This record gives sequence, structure tokens and C-alpha cells, in this order.
Amino acid sequence: MSLTTNRNDPNLGYGVDDKPIPQNKVYLVLSEEELAKGYLKPFRTSYKHSTCGTVTTMNDTISATYARDPWFYGSTYCCDCNMHRPLHEFVWLPDGESMSPNEWSDEEYNRVVELRKRLESK
Ligand SMILES: [Zn+2]
Repeated sequence: MSLTTNRNDPNLGYGVDDKPIPQNKVYLVLSEEELAKGYLKPFRTSYKHSTCGTVTTMNDTISATYARDPWFYGSTYCCDCNMHRPLHEFVWLPDGESMSPNEWSDEEYNRVVELRKRLESK
């Protein structure tokens, strides 16, 4: 598994899986420059698949990309199901927050949107 900041990399995978597959060869991440603008959410590296209960731990740069932009990915990989599944099936550890912004409270969703606006306008 490797990382790229190139959205046109031919080895990127897309979407969710309905049967087990290996991890993608390459995952898209934000650049160091973009990550340095500041995180919208805490840096968290582990998440639990609510469907099977398994905890997966991911690469630090992918974790940082989630923290910088929680809308960046639409799905994530479960290391037990061996599938990319939609974010609403996963919760972050240790706090149990949904990985899908659509599942957050309106208050939290709006807080993060406002924070993003402030960081973008710097
Ligand atoms: Zn699973």
C-alpha cells in the first residue's frame, strides 16, 4: 500500500465493496502543505466497524487527511471484512464518533463547517 496526492493516479480505488478484496495499491491523501493548514477534527488512527466489531488502525497520513478534511473520503477499509465500506458503518476510537459527518449532530456538523470556513479564509 502506498500514498499519493495525485487524484489521477491509475492505481487508486473507488467506492465501496460488496465482496472481500485486498486493500487498494494506492490511497489518495492531502499534501503536506494542505495538512499544515490545520485540523478540523482530532487526529485519530483507529476505528471500529460497527457491523463486525473489528478495530482497524490506519496510516498516519491518511489519519491526518481525515483530521484535516472529514469529507475527503466516502468509505474506509475494514481489515476483517476485507472490504471498503461506507463511513456511516464505522466509529472512531476512542470516542465512538461516527466517521461520517452526516451522522454528527447538527451542532457538531455546523461547528466543523464554520471552523473550515475560518481556516480557508486565512
Ligand atoms: Zn468489518
